[in-house]
Amino acid sequence: MDLVTRAEWRARRPRSELTALPSARGTKLHYVGSFVSPDLAKSCARCLDTVQGIQAYHQDSNRWTDIAYNLLVCPHGKVWEGRGARVLSAANGPGLNSGHYAVCALLGDRGLVQPTAAMLRGIHDAIGYLRARGAGGQVLGHRDGYSTSCPGPVLYGWLQRGMPLGGQRDDTTPIPRRPAVPRWPGRYLEYRYGKAMLRGQDVAAWQTRCKQLKYTITVDGAYGPTSAATTRVLQRALGVADDGVVGPKTWAAAW
Ligand SMILES: [Zn+2]
Ligand SMILES: [Zn+2]
Repeated sequence: MDLVTRAEWRARRPRSELTALPSARGTKLHYVGSFVSPDLAKSCARCLDTVQGIQAYHQDSNRWTDIAYNLLVCPHGKVWEGRGARVLSAANGPGLNSGHYAVCALLGDRGLVQPTAAMLRGIHDAIGYLRARGAGGQVLGHRDGYSTSCPGPVLYGWLQRGMPLGGQRDDTTPIPRRPAVPRWPGRYLEYRYGKAMLRGQDVAAWQTRCKQLKYTITVDGAYGPTSAATTRVLQRALGVADDGVVGPKTWAAAW
C-alpha cells in the first residue's frame, strides 16, 4: 500500500484532540462531490493540493477539528492519511461516526467522476489498512443510513457489485463480503529456499483466499516462492508485516 502520511503531505495539526475510536463495524465510502478537476489524474502534485485544500476547508469553513475522513484515496492509488486509523471521523453524519470509519475517494459529481483502476485498488488498500486496525468487515456508502448522494452513482454501483478490481481480473466476480474467518490451521506457512515446500489443505485454503481477494495465484496446495511473493503483496495491502509467512495475524487479517 502506498501511504502518504500526514507529515508527508504537511497536514496542519488538529484544532483540538481527536476522539479515539478503537474499533467500528466497518468502513463507509465517500467522494468529494462537487467539481473535481480531471487534471487531478495527470499529476499527484495536484492530489497534494486537493488534500490540503479539503483539510483547510473542513477546519476553516466547517470549523471541524480536522479533515473529516480517516483516509483518502487519489486517482494514482495513493492512500492519504486523513485523521488516520482508530479515531472518530466527522464524515458519516451526526450519530453515525462511531459505527464506521470513513474513506474518501478524490472524485467529483462533475469533472473527474470515473475512478481509475489504481484508485479502486487504493480503496481496497485503505479498507485493508483500517481492518488491520479495528475496522470490522462492513463496507457501506455514505448514503447508507444518511440522506446524501455520496459516494456518487459510480462508486456506489461498484460497491454494490462487490468492489471488483479490473485489469486481468474478472470484473464480474464479486469479492465475497466477509465470510466467517476459518481458524488458523496452526502451522506457519512459509517458503525457505532449498527446503521442501510445505504442502497441504491449509496451503490450499490460503491460496484459495488469495484468489478470492483477486490475487493471481495457483491453488495447488504447495507453498512455494510464488505463494510467498503473493503473500507479501497481500500483507502490504493488509497493513501487516510483509515477511511472506502466513501466521495467525496475517490469516485473520485476510478474512
Ligand atoms: Zn460522504
Ligand atoms: Zn495522486
